[in-house]
Amino acid sequence: MTASVTSAPAIVRTIPEMRKAIREYRSQASPGATVGFVPTMGFLHEGHASLIRRSNLDNGLTVLSIFVNPLQFGPNEDFERYPRDESRDLEVAAAAGADIVFLPSVEEMYPRRTATQITVAGVTERLCGASRPGHFDGVGVVVTKLFNIVSPDRAYFGLKDAQQVAVVERMVQDLDQPVEIVPCPIVREADGLAMSSRNVYLSADERREALVLSRTLAQVPAWIASGMTAERLEAAVTAGISASPLAVIDYVEALTYPSLTPPAADVPLSDADERLIVAVAVKFGRTRLIDNILISVPEA
Ligand code: AMP
Repeated sequence: MTASVTSAPAIVRTIPEMRKAIREYRSQASPGATVGFVPTMGFLHEGHASLIRRSNLDNGLTVLSIFVNPLQFGPNEDFERYPRDESRDLEVAAAAGADIVFLPSVEEMYPRRTATQITVAGVTERLCGASRPGHFDGVGVVVTKLFNIVSPDRAYFGLKDAQQVAVVERMVQDLDQPVEIVPCPIVREADGLAMSSRNVYLSADERREALVLSRTLAQVPAWIASGMTAERLEAAVTAGISASPLAVIDYVEALTYPSLTPPAADVPLSDADERLIVAVAVKFGRTRLIDNILISVPEA
């Protein structure tokens, strides 16, 4: 039996070093070897690790980035207090099999005010695009910069942030960015809570109450099969979540995916032949959580 050995990933903190590492890999690797990329904001959990492992399966080299991107936080959001733990992150990255961890500073990524804007219209009009103005513009800039620095063949994104996946896919198509976007399933705690770096903010009471999200979303396929319209389904999900006294709803929306437009009104969702998403954002105390379920209607 051979023991499994996890070797420590290389740590890279500057853009020139990152480019050099990729150049060296490509010059030495066998023809056809690919680079996979997993962009994150760190405080890694099993959801992030699942993306790293998937990239490892598909590619010869996996680059993980950890960068809390100030551009995607609003003025009253949690940029300053966002959880950070570099040494623990490096352990998770090593165990999951990342080859390179890119850890740039804010000064390295933004040495001057960024004058260039990336706005992906349409798919950003609702959900977090509506409740976090400017958020996806910040995501567009940082993801484009990271793609330009790492030049990956594939990039791995979690469907926990399903709107982000739709935004990045559309940006890559519109701008011919030479990278394949690979959406990956939501990883949940054993009791159903979607894993998130922000879950550490929750008090014990809030953590318990937050289960209302996954429990309510789990009922969506049956509700669709029963013939609900989008409006009726949104009302049912809202009522389910409101059963928790601590839940303060930001949004509950049933939309087509990935266009993120409303399905035809007054038509049962079970008659739609599109993919649907039911997405929610709910505050428990100071912590805003998001969750969603994606449904191909014949499955419902
Ligand atoms: P973040 O560090 O929160 O910016 O997330 C980095 C990447 O990990 C994004 O593509 C997220 O969608 C993904 N991710 C975060 N949480 C989960 C989860 N519970 N399951 C799957 N992917 C996740």
